[in-house]
Amino acid sequence: MSDTQLVSKSDSVQQTVIHLTPHTRVGSEELLIIGGPCTVESLEQMEQVARHLATVPVQLLRGGVYKPRTSPYSFQGLGLEGLTILRDIRQRYSVPVVTEVMSIPQLEAIAEAVDVLQIGSRNMQNFELLKAVGQVNRPVILKRGLSATLQEFLLAAEYILSHGNSQVILCERGIRSFDPYTRNVLDLGVVVALKQLTHLPVIVDPSHAAGKRELVGNLAKAAIAAGADGVMIECHPQPEKSVSDARQALSLPEMTTLVTQLRPIATAVGRRVVEAEPFNVAAA
Ligand code: PEP
Ligand code: MN
Repeated sequence: MSDTQLVSKSDSVQQTVIHLTPHTRVGSEELLIIGGPCTVESLEQMEQVARHLATVPVQLLRGGVYKPRTSPYSFQGLGLEGLTILRDIRQRYSVPVVTEVMSIPQLEAIAEAVDVLQIGSRNMQNFELLKAVGQVNRPVILKRGLSATLQEFLLAAEYILSHGNSQVILCERGIRSFDPYTRNVLDLGVVVALKQLTHLPVIVDPSHAAGKRELVGNLAKAAIAAGADGVMIECHPQPEKSVSDARQALSLPEMTTLVTQLRPIATAVGRRVVEAEPFNVAAA
């Protein structure tokens, strides 16, 4: 018996396809495009984002309400107020939403309010949190730790599966290296390897890898070409005014351009970018 028995690919295990809603899935030929700001800042901000992203379209809206900030003096997120905004946007625009859960006490309220949970890089080896999300019936985006090996990443996912939740989406988001020019180094090698080793969907977050908006688009294209099942991109109505990660945020029109540019790449590798508007653009 191997330590990665549940996450590993084998002849008898099919690629896992996770349904985020009845209409949205990841792990199939359809790519999952996730977009939204680093941080939920206000209802108005999220309305602007939701209204625009419906037309792109993206399939899942992101926005952090509990933020893992390097400095304790940086804005820590709107917390429950932010969760109320996400719940409201989710209902009025019929859009699925994802947000990060940083600790066990936050889990119940977050799981009740959103469609998908995110475990951030800094918590990839928070084993008690992994066990706790293993007991929740919600898909989980598990982000790779800043210095986690492939094996440690798979073992973190194995924690969640072995506690009962098989709906895990792995997310490569860049790893630490010596060169500060990019915030992190996007490890596309690990994406290729993971697609060979695990049946779980694998997505890529080029925003946190690059740390600079002008690098995000081409890295997203490379991720799709490398076989990723989707991408997560940070974008904002006024990128330079973002309360966090402003330097890497795309504008909303840039998001439209990027998704258009992903289409031929997806086709070239036998995948598809969803065309239809998945949620209600006409919502007030
Ligand atoms: C995020 O998605 O906003 C985030 C904090 O990501 P990471 O955990 O990859 O740094
Ligand atoms: Mn961010």
